[in-house]
Amino acid sequence: MPYTHLIFDFDHMLFDTDQSEALSFQHALRSHGVADPEPLLGHYQRINQGLWREVEKGTISPNEVKSQRFATLAAEADLPYDPEAVAESYTAGLCDHGELYDGAGELVMSLADTFTLAMVTNGLGPVQRGRLDRIGLGGVFEPLVISGEVGVSKPRPEIFQLVFDAFPDTPRSNFLMIGDSLTSDVAGGRNAGIDTCWYDRHGANESPEEPTHRIESISDLCSLLNDDS
Ligand SMILES: [Mg+2]
Repeated sequence: MPYTHLIFDFDHMLFDTDQSEALSFQHALRSHGVADPEPLLGHYQRINQGLWREVEKGTISPNEVKSQRFATLAAEADLPYDPEAVAESYTAGLCDHGELYDGAGELVMSLADTFTLAMVTNGLGPVQRGRLDRIGLGGVFEPLVISGEVGVSKPRPEIFQLVFDAFPDTPRSNFLMIGDSLTSDVAGGRNAGIDTCWYDRHGANESPEEPTHRIESISDLCSLLNDDS
């Protein structure tokens, strides 16, 4: 059956989250007395990724990540700043920095003519809503389900159920989950009983999670959906 309802991931799928985080990190640390934050970025990213893996496992909440990552960095790199204050600046900066990947906005708007678009994203509510509004995609994805607002994260099936609840007459076979993360998006879609499309950004090709479809560029999604219909 052709897909009618597309559930998008946001970070690293449509939005250049690496760019957003790097610019926000540098801005936040500079404004709290760290003269040269750039060499600390890799260290911070390892801490942050580790904490988001804990969110996927359900051991901590998305909102705990917000300050914990800066507290851990301060402890490990011996930085004198107030982690809570840096976390506030960083979170505000995440809304202000970062752009869509080339072609992603045009792709979404063209798909919106044919498909119902929803989004399920692991993140903080104000950050994700602020970004979507700033880049002109506010209101395009309905429902927009954000883990920090609903208290459950991908890959748990309960977060996908919130999308299904909005379309009670639509069979599961009409939904397609599209994302770059094997652990959140592909595993999540499978847990929820729907087909998945893995955006294999790095050309890894092999996946233990066995997505239904695999694309290597955002534009491949159009051909996939046209072939399917
Ligand atoms: Mg992602």
